[in-house]
Amino acid sequence: MQARMPDLEPSDAEEVASPSVLGITPPSRSSEEGERAWAQAVAFTRDRSPASFDQWFSGVQFDGFTDGVLSLRARDEFVRQWIEDYYLPTLSDWLRAHTGLSIQARWSIDVALDRPVADRPSYPPVRPRTISVRPVPAEEPSGVRDVVSVTASTAPPPPPPPRIYAVAAPMEALNPKSTFGNFVVGPSNQLAHAASMAAAGGGSRRHNPLFICGGTGLGKTHLVHAIAHSVRSDRPEARIVYISAERFVNEFVQALQDQKMNDFRARYREKCDVLLVDDIHSLAGKTQTQEEFFHAFNALHQGGKQIVVTSDKYPQQLDKMEERLVSRFQWGLVADIHAPELETRVAIIRKKAQLEHIELEGDVCLHIAQSVRSNVRELEGTLIRLAAKASLLGKPIDINFTRTEIAASGTARPNEASVEDIQRMVCHHFKLRSVDLVSKDRHKSIAFARHVAMYLCKQRLKCSFPELGRAFGNRDHTTVISAVRKVESLRSHDPEVRAHLEALERKLGSIE
Ligand code: ADP
Ligand code: MG
Repeated sequence: MQARMPDLEPSDAEEVASPSVLGITPPSRSSEEGERAWAQAVAFTRDRSPASFDQWFSGVQFDGFTDGVLSLRARDEFVRQWIEDYYLPTLSDWLRAHTGLSIQARWSIDVALDRPVADRPSYPPVRPRTISVRPVPAEEPSGVRDVVSVTASTAPPPPPPPRIYAVAAPMEALNPKSTFGNFVVGPSNQLAHAASMAAAGGGSRRHNPLFICGGTGLGKTHLVHAIAHSVRSDRPEARIVYISAERFVNEFVQALQDQKMNDFRARYREKCDVLLVDDIHSLAGKTQTQEEFFHAFNALHQGGKQIVVTSDKYPQQLDKMEERLVSRFQWGLVADIHAPELETRVAIIRKKAQLEHIELEGDVCLHIAQSVRSNVRELEGTLIRLAAKASLLGKPIDINFTRTEIAASGTARPNEASVEDIQRMVCHHFKLRSVDLVSKDRHKSIAFARHVAMYLCKQRLKCSFPELGRAFGNRDHTTVISAVRKVESLRSHDPEVRAHLEALERKLGSIE
């Protein structure tokens, strides 16, 4: 925001900014339709810039939206100016797109708002150090900007200091593109997708909590964002809290420091209808935060509020996590996501290309999908890199270009090891027969080699536990989970095991 006019005297500010001088009377009643459109526009705007939404919208009141005129009341000029500069464009665009009307904002100033858009934050509003005032020039259309603009006299007013958000932030940012509509469903993720739709209120049976787990870059965060978007649009009044576990820890620590535990607890236990916690594995070892989360979980669960948690591990695999939390995570549904199959990868590339307006020729999609197998993030990254390079060189993304680029970037992994490769290698290393690993033989040395093979497959191939269970003589996925866990733990304190693993990993490196 820039100072648009030379500074005027502060006394002018008071005179011009006074509500009585502005003399704007908002419409007494707004149409129901207008109110609905406004609520949706607000939800959309909040998603776009959630970090400071409450901070500013606690100083704004909605008075009506009729025939394209949006009547708003601001607590003071500074809030009005800020909203106008940073939020109104998004709000207006949304309303214009959804009502077809061109939007005019009509402002009034009122120090005592009785129905602010957002709850009043628990900290004082941000103030510029000096303000300057200018009357609106006569030629500006009346009714649109018929109040004065007050701007910081020098640089843009600084955004509120980050500490403030530690306790009061409404939500972490949601990616507007992470919707259900943009999520490609395939066998690898259909359970998690269906369960997420249900958690968002999509009709079928809701599981509480919903625990979504899977390797990195497979769409967990996308699904929780999609839940938030969907709830927002279907039930704008629902209070959604989306937060990463890491941030939950930070907020908790901050609240303790600032002696604001009551606010913190209210936010997670009372003022929440849907709790979405991303990457819960980051609570590992944080006992006090786990305790706090446990109580929030119980309060919400008892109140029938939906809880969705994501994790890179199955609940039983979560390290340094209180047993009572682990068991609660299994109360509802544990839905795992696996690396997508070829067809799903092709569909994902098509979808991303369409979303990013990237034109791909012929069998380019298939070639990318065959070359990049590990996760969707890498798939996306490859596509974006190709598009950027093609546009820089002014070339089309055809098959030759794609082949050359992928080969040059080393993204392609045509010789990636398979489960069978790893099993063969482990057998060779421990001097066993291939059948031993898939047999029911529980002899100690065979069991150990089997566990090591399972561990390496899990590390290297990003296969799901059930898939691995099947590949190792149709064992249950929980057997694989405990095997992987055991090897992880041995690796950290048994030098002999570590040496075996390192030798095997070196060999694996040479065949990958
Ligand atoms: P995770 O949280 O599991 O690490 P993300 O949800 O961040 O993974 O996904 C990584 C990227 O891949 C995101 O850009 C996401 O939109 C995309 N993505 C993942 N799965 C899918 C899918 N099934 N359809 C479309 N995009 C997907
Ligand atoms: Mg994630």
